[in-house]
Amino acid sequence: MSTVHDAVIVGAGFGGMGAAIALKRLGLDDLVILDRESDLGGTWHVNRYPGLAVDIPSATYSYSFEPNPYWSRLFAPGAELKRYARHVAEKYDLARHMRFDAVVDGATWQPEASTWLVRLAGGGSVEARYLLTATGFLSQPRMPDITGIDSFAGHVVHTTDWDDSYDFAGKRAAIIGTGATAVQLIPELAQQVSELTVYQRTPIWVSPKVDFGVPEVVQQLFASVPLSQRAARLVGTSVLEAMMVSGVLHYRRAKVINQLAERWCRAHLNRQVPDPALRRKLTPDYSFGCKRPTFSNDYFPTFNREHVHLETTSISHLDATGLVTSDGRRTDVDVLVLATGFNLWDVNFPAIEVIGKDGRNLGEWWRATRFQAYEGVSVPGFPNFISLNSPYSYSGLSYFTTIECQMRHMERLFTALRERGADTFEVTEQANDAFLARMRDLVGDSVFALGHCATANSYYFNQHDEATLLRPTSTVSALRAAGSFPLDAYAYA
Ligand code: NAP
Repeated sequence: MSTVHDAVIVGAGFGGMGAAIALKRLGLDDLVILDRESDLGGTWHVNRYPGLAVDIPSATYSYSFEPNPYWSRLFAPGAELKRYARHVAEKYDLARHMRFDAVVDGATWQPEASTWLVRLAGGGSVEARYLLTATGFLSQPRMPDITGIDSFAGHVVHTTDWDDSYDFAGKRAAIIGTGATAVQLIPELAQQVSELTVYQRTPIWVSPKVDFGVPEVVQQLFASVPLSQRAARLVGTSVLEAMMVSGVLHYRRAKVINQLAERWCRAHLNRQVPDPALRRKLTPDYSFGCKRPTFSNDYFPTFNREHVHLETTSISHLDATGLVTSDGRRTDVDVLVLATGFNLWDVNFPAIEVIGKDGRNLGEWWRATRFQAYEGVSVPGFPNFISLNSPYSYSGLSYFTTIECQMRHMERLFTALRERGADTFEVTEQANDAFLARMRDLVGDSVFALGHCATANSYYFNQHDEATLLRPTSTVSALRAAGSFPLDAYAYA
């Protein structure tokens, strides 16, 4: 006889922990949290590259119900996020549910038993009434498909698998990629290596980062008067809301905010890089917000240094000693850093195989129809399944906004389930279709539809060139919807 647990949560990052807290509040305590890594924290466990820090103010990038008064900086370093994750796991009694090094192969709905069977790689399975996937958006590293990369005889490291034992001092290094990760890493690498060549395919919009150490007296104030930290959170959230929601998602109505953000980034670059040719290379040719922007004060100045070179000619191939660009120039290096990001749309969505009712395969269904999920949470044909990393689920810029919306949705849904004395829930096709139609309509007002995004190479767009990652509403509206969606959007049985 196998044990049927209340729920299996796949992923022990902040999303999975938020889901577990929501379930515990609902009285569901028999939880199994599976994670392929050897510890909790998700992205903040995996990423350890030098310069790693949150690029959203920490008072905002944390659970609203679990503020941390002791962030050392306005933008906390990565290690503090990992410590915060551990603190949350302990305080909310989550650690005892977690199983690490547990790679999930797939999950199948079992209609006779109304349970999910979750298969583990290497054998074994876990059965539960509810399945929640919290596998992250940025969790499948992208390895660049460049000719000859395997023949490179030097050291190769991807930013998600940082090699702490490798000594970069005095080495000739190359880095491929100029996304938010590279923006944090490049200034750090430049301090260690003798030569650094940065291979940029698409420049990134970079805003100044107003960062400073939080004085102890302010930390004490946050600890003794929580309202003061809530006010700080509100300020951070409002700035992000103006930039990302008004300027990007509500572009039709608030184009001027987008233009201001772009001008703000341009002025930052102009102030920091005196050479006009270099400046041109670092200036994006797509609208602000088509691609995720970032914040940094030391990224641009790094390119003014003698030993740092910006290479914008495409890479033709690699060989044993270095990289060759399409115009035939070669750069020999000792170490190659891949800051090449993540593959969202081919190997994520979903990150594991999920088979619902009548054998419906979630990944295949999303690709054969459209990427869709009701309120970014549930999918027709998949009873008792909460998909936290779904199309149109990401709300605002701080991931915690998304997590808390989803926690609220779960609270309303599971309460309704209990009040009806039902065992299963499943979103109706009608509710899902109406939500998808509304999202597609709203995306039409965003920079993704109305701006110049063709050259952005943005992971906000899927393989069909549709911007299906971000929820195109304000975070306030997302939060409201999570607490008031019509209960008949679901069928209960
Ligand atoms: P990313 O934004 O996807 O950037 C990957 C970079 O690699 C891009 O510049 C991309 O160029 C380049 N690239 C990929 N394949 C390539 C190839 N074959 N040849 C040449 N260039 C190639 O990934 P990321 O920088 O790791 O950041 C991902 C996300 O993580 C961020 O957007 C952000 O949401 C999150 N992040 C957050 C923080 C934080 O503090 N909260 C910090 C770091 C990252 P193209 O643009 O041309 O494709």
